[in-house]
Amino acid sequence: MNEKKNKRLDFPSLFVTGNDTEIGKSTAAALLILLYKDMGIDVGFMKPVQSGSHEAGGKLLSQDAAFMSFAAGSDVEKKNNPYVYKEIASPYIAAKAVNEEIDVELILGYYEDLKLTHQAVIVEGAGGLYVPVTKNSTVLDIIGKMNLPVIHVVDIGLGTINHTLLSMEALRARGISILGLIINRFRDDNGIAMETNIVELKRLTGLPVVAVIPEMPEFTMDEKGITLLKSLIKKQDKSRIRKIFKPPKDMTPDLVRDDLKYVWHPFTQMNEYRKEEPHPLVIEKGDGSYLFDSEGDRYLDGVSSLWVNVHGHRNKRLDEALRNQAGKIAHSTMLGLTNEPAIRLAKKLIDIAPEGLAKVFYSDSGSTAVEIALKMSYQYWKELGYEGKNKFVSFRNAYHGDTIGSVSVGGIDLFHKKYEDLLFDGYKVDSPYCYRCPMDLKVSGCTMECTVELENILSTKNDEIAAMIVEPMVQGAAGMLVSPPGYLARVSELANKNGVLLVLDEVATGFGRTGEMFASDHEKVSPDIMCVAKGITGGYLPLAATLASDEIYSAFLGEHEELRTFFHGHTYTGNPLACEVARANIDLIKSEDLIEKTKALSEELGSLLSRFYDIGIVGDIRQSGLMIGIELVKDRESKEIFPIASRIGRRVILEARGRGVIIRPLGDVIVLMPPLTISRHELKELLDITYLSIEKVASEL
Ligand SMILES: *Cc1c(COP(=O)(O)O)cnc(C)c1O
Repeated sequence: MNEKKNKRLDFPSLFVTGNDTEIGKSTAAALLILLYKDMGIDVGFMKPVQSGSHEAGGKLLSQDAAFMSFAAGSDVEKKNNPYVYKEIASPYIAAKAVNEEIDVELILGYYEDLKLTHQAVIVEGAGGLYVPVTKNSTVLDIIGKMNLPVIHVVDIGLGTINHTLLSMEALRARGISILGLIINRFRDDNGIAMETNIVELKRLTGLPVVAVIPEMPEFTMDEKGITLLKSLIKKQDKSRIRKIFKPPKDMTPDLVRDDLKYVWHPFTQMNEYRKEEPHPLVIEKGDGSYLFDSEGDRYLDGVSSLWVNVHGHRNKRLDEALRNQAGKIAHSTMLGLTNEPAIRLAKKLIDIAPEGLAKVFYSDSGSTAVEIALKMSYQYWKELGYEGKNKFVSFRNAYHGDTIGSVSVGGIDLFHKKYEDLLFDGYKVDSPYCYRCPMDLKVSGCTMECTVELENILSTKNDEIAAMIVEPMVQGAAGMLVSPPGYLARVSELANKNGVLLVLDEVATGFGRTGEMFASDHEKVSPDIMCVAKGITGGYLPLAATLASDEIYSAFLGEHEELRTFFHGHTYTGNPLACEVARANIDLIKSEDLIEKTKALSEELGSLLSRFYDIGIVGDIRQSGLMIGIELVKDRESKEIFPIASRIGRRVILEARGRGVIIRPLGDVIVLMPPLTISRHELKELLDITYLSIEKVASEL
C-alpha cells in the first residue's frame, strides 16, 4: 500500500561527520566506500557542498567528491556534488560570497535519487556539526533531514576527547544514531596520549571504533591514496565491521504487537484498530512539517499532531528552551511556591490576551481549562451572593473536552449522549452551522436568526444563568463549523447585556491558528474568562491556562475563614518545562511574524480549495486561517450524508496515508490543520494528496 516504503538493506547509508574540518573525513568516506564495495555493496556517494575548492580547466573542482569518486570507481556528477565554491569558508558564507543560497531541498532530492540507484549512499558532511549550510540550518540539520546514521571521524591529538564528546552530545540531542568512530592520523610514536586516547574515547562515548587510519606521510588524495586505503582494508576485521554496520533490528512488528496488547487508544474502536491494515504507524521522529515512522518513512503532518503544532516539529528554539529548562528543574509545585517560567509566561499571556483578562490559572489540558472556567464562573456568582445563577448556556455541535463538566456543555451527540445521566443541566442553543442552517436559511442575506433563541433564553432566564461558553469563530471538533462575520460580536453583546459571563474556549483557535493571535481578535471581543491549551506550547508539552478578568478574581478574595478560596488545582499546574516552552513559542510567533504569514497563506488557500468542488462528493468547504474542513456528502443536491458504516472519511485518510500524508476525519469531514510554518510547496503537497485521496474514494463508490 505504501509506495514510499524503503527497501531494507543489509547495510545502512551513512553520513560521515567529524570533529572539525581538515581532519580526514574524505579519507574516511573513501575508506568506507571501499569497505562497502569489498563487501559486495553497490554504493553511491555524495558531498553536498564543497567550499575552498580549486579551479581546474575553468571549472571548480571538488577535491573531496573527486576522491570519493576514485573510491567508488565512477565520475563526479552534479548529484554527487551539487554545490562547489571557491571561498575557503563555511558553505553558507562561501555561497553568500557569490550571491548564492544553498537549497536544502535540492540536496535532499539528489540524495533520494542516489538512494534509488544504489544499495547504500555515503554522504560526506562539511566541517563540523554546527557549520552553517544556509542562513538557518547547519550540517546537523541536514543529517536530521536525511535521517541517516553517522560515522564520526576524529584525529588524535590534544582536545580530541573534548571535541568528540561535544559532537556526540549534539548528535544524540537530535536523536541521530551514531554507529561508530573512525580514528585518523594515528601515530605509534606519540606516547601516552595516543594509546590512552583510543581506549578513553571508546569508554567515554560508548561507541565502537570502526577503523584506525595511521598517519601516512606519503598519502595523497588521488589514485595512489586509494591504493594505500585498499591495503588498509585488507587488514580490517570484516565480521566485526558487519556487526557494527548492521542496521538496527526493525522493532516495528514488536512495537505494534505490544501496542495492541497493552495500549487503549483515545476515540478509537479498538476492535477495528486491532484489525487495521496496514498496521498503525509507529511515529519515531519529526522534522518541520514532517513525521517519520519507525520504518524511516516520511509523512506530512496535515493535522499538526492533532491541532497542537505551531512551528513544525523539532523547532530549534523550542528544543533549546526545553533543554535549558530541563537543565534547571523539571517540576516544582505551585501550591505555596512559584517558579520563574510560570510567572513570565503568565505575564506574556496577559500581554497578548484580549483586553480585560488579567489573571492566569494554569492546568494541563483543554478539558481542565474548561472545567476551571465553569467552576470559576459558578463560584463567582455565589461569592457575589447570587444563589440562583447555576446554569450554563452552551451550543449544539460544541466540543469543550471529555471530562464530565466539559461534556455537560458539549453538544455532539455521538460523543456526549451516552453520558446524559451523569451530566448537569443547562440551556443548549443552535450553533451557526451555515451549510446545514438550523433555521433553514440561505447564507446570502443571513441576519443571524439563530441568535434569536439565544437572546430569548439570556433575557428571560438570566437569573438562572452563570455563563455562556463559546468556541469563537470555529466549532472545531464538530467539523470546522465557521461562524458568519459578526456572529461572535453579537453573542458577546448579548451576554454582556444580560448579566451573563462570557467564557471563550480558544483551546483550538488560539495562538495564530485562525490568522489572529486569538479568534476573538477578529471581532475585538473581550471575554470574562478564556481557555487556552493545544497550541500554547507549540505542540511540545501538555499545558493549559484559564485566563480571568480582575473582576472575576476579586470575587474570590477574602479572609481565610470566609472560604472564598478557589479550591481547585492540578498536580502539574504551572509546570516549568511546559511554561518555558510556551514562552518560547509565543516569542517565536512574534519574532517570525507568524500571524501575518498565516493570514497571507490562508488568503491564498481560499482559491486553492475551491477546485475540490470538482469532486462530486464534496458538499462544503470551510476555512478559517489554517483550519480547514471538507464535508463529504452522498448527494450534493440534498446534502444527504453517507451511512455511518461506509466510513468515507476514514477511507480518505487511509488513502492519504498511503501517499505520505497524515490527516484525520471528523465523521465525514476531512480536516486539514497543518503547522503554521508549513511552506507553500508542502501546502500544495497536502492539498494535492488530499484531493487525489478524496477523488479515489469517490471513484470507488
Ligand atoms: C481539544 C479541545 C478541548 C479539549 O482539550 P484537551 O486538551 O483534549 O482536553 C476543549 N475545547 C476545544 C475547543 C477543543 O478543540
